[in-house]
Amino acid sequence: MALRLIKNLPAAELTAWLQAHGQAAFRLKQIRDWLYSRWAIDFVAMGNLPTALRQALTDDFLAFGLEPLETQTADDDTVKWLFRLVDGESIETVLIRAPDRQTVCISTQVGCPVRCTFCASGRDGLIRDLEPGEIVDQVIAACRHLQQRVDNIVVMGMGEPLLNLEHLIAALDLICGPECLGVGARHITISTSGIVPGIRRLAELRRQWHLALSLHALTDEQRGRLIPARYRYPLAEILDACRYYRECTGRIVTLEYALMAGGNDSQDDALGLAALARRLDAKINLIPCNPVSEHYQAPAERQVRAFEERVRSLGAKVTLRQRKGERIQAACGQLRRRTPAAAERPDQASPE
Ligand code: SF4
Repeated sequence: MALRLIKNLPAAELTAWLQAHGQAAFRLKQIRDWLYSRWAIDFVAMGNLPTALRQALTDDFLAFGLEPLETQTADDDTVKWLFRLVDGESIETVLIRAPDRQTVCISTQVGCPVRCTFCASGRDGLIRDLEPGEIVDQVIAACRHLQQRVDNIVVMGMGEPLLNLEHLIAALDLICGPECLGVGARHITISTSGIVPGIRRLAELRRQWHLALSLHALTDEQRGRLIPARYRYPLAEILDACRYYRECTGRIVTLEYALMAGGNDSQDDALGLAALARRLDAKINLIPCNPVSEHYQAPAERQVRAFEERVRSLGAKVTLRQRKGERIQAACGQLRRRTPAAAERPDQASPE
């Protein structure tokens, strides 16, 4: 039987396991300290635990669930990993470095069921959900690389986070828990393509996590060209859910808008986007699109700046995200598609 990742176990279960092995309750804190403060990847290193306990842990659990298959570092110090999971599947994680903060972009699924037409992650559909421990271990890997705790987490890698919501919540509770990684809730951003029930469930948790909506288009018809029907909700329902999120958490929602030349970058689009953001009291994050196919190209830099200025002049809060790590294929899913397992799968990307 495959070993379980220890981080998948709720604290109560681990406490019960310790009791069953005749161990005192304080061992839980010691184990957590090794896992989350010293980023241990095996139990043998846990020097202040009795040898018998280290052996029992090794017999029953895995301390860490990722094996780096490939590491790429860009000129701007962005690091991208392709990790192999215990079952042989692979995921991508990106570390984005800045002088004042270290941000990790994490994946929540192997592949993605939403299959947006502009995204490499969705090409194969969903392979499987990540477990909580596999989500947390991406952050641990970045901490080990930096030899310091990361400041910021963006849940924008492979997968639609709100379609693996229970595992995501369990993982974020470990990432934010003061007894675990201790990252502030306000430093977590969850990006969704607009899964309405998930947004509403998150809102009702009333955590201080930041919500980003991958909007990219301003009408249902336009969105229909980007997001296949199965997981596409009507824009009006999505915006209502975002309003609800704002009401429940007090947090401003971000509208992610990937600019695609000739697709969504007209003067009318700027007008519509600014009006929508003002109505929602949201801020806009413009992203020159990072294309995976010849169908979508980023506009020229001059046009991107002009769009940004136009939206700002219409009274909306807007920032322009710098593309980082472009030369290492940092858009999600691009690296994984070169693995033999992904190459063997038929390309399922098709607009519905
Ligand atoms: S953009 Fe996000 S939701 Fe769409 S296919 Fe890619 S990972 Fe999935």
